[in-house]
Amino acid sequence: MKAAILYGPHDLRLVETAMPVPAADGVLIRVKAMGICGSDLHAYHGKLATVVYPRLIGHEVVGEVVETGSAVSKVKAGDHVVMDPVVSCGRCPACRSGRGNVCRDVKCMGVAAEGGCAEYIVLPEGNVHLIPADIPWNEAALIEPYTIGAQVTSRGEVAPGDTVLIMGAGPIGLVVLQAAKRRRAKVIITDVSEGRLELARRLDADVTVNPQKQDLAVAVSQFTDGYGVNVAVDAVGLPELFAQAVEFTAPTGRVVILGFNPTPSHVSELPITRKELDIRGSRMHAGKFPEVIRWFAAREVKTTPLISHQFPFEKVNEAFKTLEQEPDKTCKVIITF
Ligand SMILES: [Zn+2]
Ligand SMILES: [Zn+2]
Repeated sequence: MKAAILYGPHDLRLVETAMPVPAADGVLIRVKAMGICGSDLHAYHGKLATVVYPRLIGHEVVGEVVETGSAVSKVKAGDHVVMDPVVSCGRCPACRSGRGNVCRDVKCMGVAAEGGCAEYIVLPEGNVHLIPADIPWNEAALIEPYTIGAQVTSRGEVAPGDTVLIMGAGPIGLVVLQAAKRRRAKVIITDVSEGRLELARRLDADVTVNPQKQDLAVAVSQFTDGYGVNVAVDAVGLPELFAQAVEFTAPTGRVVILGFNPTPSHVSELPITRKELDIRGSRMHAGKFPEVIRWFAAREVKTTPLISHQFPFEKVNEAFKTLEQEPDKTCKVIITF
């Protein structure tokens, strides 16, 4: 069988490998679709500190169960499943509090552990969730990114009637937008790409702002009657956006950070104390798959506008190059098998 292995920056090869064999708790899956994530692209560029080469990439993976180990009871051959890429120890304080996504030894499949961009993979039963068979494979590949949106809005405690500022309308910003709208919040979203702002409007953003053309401070003030937003989300991960998020958030509000940028941000204590802001990190997801699978089963999210390109597995290199060369024209790129 074939697997897409990243041997180093810009060195992604389709190689012939042995068919994986499930252990007692393992599930053998014929992969049907995979979404390419920003982190896959960072690994492809050699700009992801946590990636170890050579690496079988991919963590937004869905497929059909072929065979199960003797101890598996959750799924059976023929079932449609999605990969839960969070690998955690199950014993540390974070894991014991139900937050294995920030386990001391956490790994994301496709980054610090083997991923799923292959014709067949084996996953432990605990990293597999059953999904309805009538969800098209290319849309089902978006379930994992939506768990990020579910996590961000839960960390931000987004409530009905809240105003939410989302900085960045890339794939992550757009799933956070939909998760916030599900919670009946009003959303103002920014991006420097007009194409992405147009997409955000199709996905029910209340206000869109291009900060290169409009004054974001004025737009936020108008949107919130001068009070500031209840929740601000930096979906880009730039130090200066963290400072802006703090500035634009109202007293008692929450600032949610997703970035991995190690550069310090110049944020003083004063606005955080004065407004009693909560500054919260959000990483991958903590137990969000069942909830997001329900959204998909009930067709409550608009997945298809996010899919800009699809490539067959054989053209996985072309898919990465397209994402690399046309950031404005690409949103979610799906590999089909
Ligand atoms: Zn991802
Ligand atoms: Zn742990």
